[in-house]
Parts: sequence; structure tokens; C-alpha cells
Amino acid sequence: MPNCLYCNNDKPADEFTLEHVIPQFLGGAQAPDELKTRRVCKTCNSNLGLFVDAGFEKDFLVFNQLNEAAYAFFNPDEPSSLPLHNMGISDLTPPGMKEDEVCEYWLGPLGEQIIWIRPSDERMYWYSGGNPRTVKKVRTRAYFLWAERSQKNPIITWLAFRDAFLGRKVKKLMCTKLDGADPKYIGFSEPDELDNERIEYFKKECSNGEERKNKLSMYVRYDIRFMAKLAIGLSHVIFGSTIEKSHYSNALRQALWFREGDSEPTIEGQSNLGEQDQFLKEQCGVSNGVTVTILPVSTGVAVNLNLNKKMNWVVNCAKIDEVSDQITSELSHGICVILYRSLNKGIKLSLPELIAHNQGSIIHQELAEVEKLAGLNEGYFANL
Ligand SMILES: [Zn+2]
Repeated sequence: MPNCLYCNNDKPADEFTLEHVIPQFLGGAQAPDELKTRRVCKTCNSNLGLFVDAGFEKDFLVFNQLNEAAYAFFNPDEPSSLPLHNMGISDLTPPGMKEDEVCEYWLGPLGEQIIWIRPSDERMYWYSGGNPRTVKKVRTRAYFLWAERSQKNPIITWLAFRDAFLGRKVKKLMCTKLDGADPKYIGFSEPDELDNERIEYFKKECSNGEERKNKLSMYVRYDIRFMAKLAIGLSHVIFGSTIEKSHYSNALRQALWFREGDSEPTIEGQSNLGEQDQFLKEQCGVSNGVTVTILPVSTGVAVNLNLNKKMNWVVNCAKIDEVSDQITSELSHGICVILYRSLNKGIKLSLPELIAHNQGSIIHQELAEVEKLAGLNEGYFANL
């Protein structure tokens, strides 16, 4: 019986499923097939998706950073719906709030305000949008306030509002009266008595230019389990089963299953919150894209994850004494995978090619084409 890479349990073959290794929220569906595997059990695929992948994705900084690309590639001639920006938990106290509810405050593409009243979750307090399982099941309410700037291009607002909270049981309420437009057309509901009271409250509190105090919840260890998981998956697709039982692979697995209070994981790496290596941050990434690089370093083979040249993490996926010289020399130029999720595009190149492109010495054609796309509408939102 095969065993699962993550939980290490032996399971029957039909208990296994496709694992993207680089998860889909980072654009992993566009990664080359050789970076995907079927050595992960369905339970891990589903549970680690919720507790490890989402724990990373929904971190306030990561979440907003990943949404940036959709704005960069937005084409006003063919408008598509844009994601909302998460601004944290608001100090607003609208009528009829339950004790276990919070007001999450969001901004639309043109400065529209959205107040989402949803259950809070002590265990997943730092998740943008709360516990993904709860918010799928529980019916919640979100209140939308049109911004003055929305008039400049109402279709942008309209599309973003239409798709906000897609797939969740959210009752959407429009707080702004609009002449000649029917909010029901894009999924808004008829307000009940409680909604009417709250709409009055939000109109008073949110349109007087008063500064709002939002609270951001962050969990400083949000990335450790995720980086360990990424390292285990990539180590498997690169080295096969040769080092699966090594001491360091066990340390990675311990970090993947890390719980607050456990002894500190002994994996080697550098979190985004730590001291930054500017070279890695600026040269091992691209603007508006996710870059995953696998490269030999003095201590082993490292996985570097870069978001938009703004956030960077490194973790070793193997120790130097575990990998053969042959593999190290095969990897000597590093493998870079660049993922543009909003464009459904993945590009594979070597690290020297990426660095040469970033430094302007040898332009990489495909990357240059993507950059051109982003450059077409630069400043569009700021100048609207
Ligand atoms: Zn498993």
C-alpha cells in the first residue's frame, strides 16, 4: 500500500487523489504536471487545504497581496469582476449584533464600503473572511455602500458587487439608493426591519468622513505549516522517494503538523516576517505574480516562494548530505515557476534567466509580454 506524503499513513490506492503541491490559490493549476503528485490521501488533501493552505492564503497581508494581480491586469475595455480588499475587523456596532459576531470591513475597487457581519472564530481568528466552513453553512449579511467615485465607472463596482461572496450564503443589502438601477439584478435582497435599522446606522456612521478603527488579526506562525507542506511536496516531485525517510524529511513533517505548544520545528528557512534578503525578494520574483524557485544552496536545496516581489519565504526541502551530486548539478541553474493566476498562465524558466530578465540584460519574451499587459493600464484606478 502506498503511504501519504503528508500524514505518512499507508492507505489503499483509492484513498489517494491529485495534489497540486503548489496550491491552486497560488496558481498551482498552471504549474507543469511534473510538479503535481498523486501520493497524497484525500483526508490530507481536504483537511490541510482548510487548515494549512487557507491558514496561509487568508493571512491579511498574503490575501491582499494575492488580489493585487487582478487589479494590475484589469482591462477597462473588457471589465471583469475584481476582488474586494480586506480591511480587518471594524469597530462598528450596528443594531442586532450577536455576541459571537464581528463586522468585517472591506473596500471595493473604487472605494465602496462593505460591512460583512459574520460569526467570529477563535481558532481561525486571523482568517480573512472567517472560518471557510462556517461561512459556507451559516447565513450572514453584508451591507454595501456605494462610493462617490463609483459613478466614474459604475460597471466596475457593479461587477465586483455581483461576485462578492460568491458561493456563500450571504444576504447582500444595498445601503445606497441608486437612480435607475435595480440592485436585485446583481443579487441584492429586499431589506427586512433589522436591515433597515442597520442601513440607517451605516449611512450615518460610514458617510461622515469619520476615521474608522479597524483591527487586524495576525498569527505570526501562520506560514510555518504551509512552507513545510510546500517543501515536502516539492522534495517528493524532485527527488522521488529517495529521501522521504531522511531525518530532515521527518523534521519537515513535524513542522507540517506543528501545534502551538509543541517543541520548535527544526527546519531551515526564513519567514517573510524575518530579516529580509533583498536579493531574494527583488530578483527571485516578478511583479503581479507568484514565483516558486527550487535552487541548490550551501546547506541543501531550497524552495523560495515570492509574491509580487513584495513578500518572500525560503525553506530548505532537502539537506546537502541527503541529495546526490548528480541531482545538485542537474538543479544547479535552479527551476523557477512563475504563476499568474488571474491570467491562467504558468511560465517555467531557469533562475539565471529570471535574474537576467529582472536586471534587464536578457529579456525573457513571455515575461515581457505579461509585463506589457500590466503596463497597459498602469495608474488606471488612481487616475479615475
Ligand atoms: Zn494523508
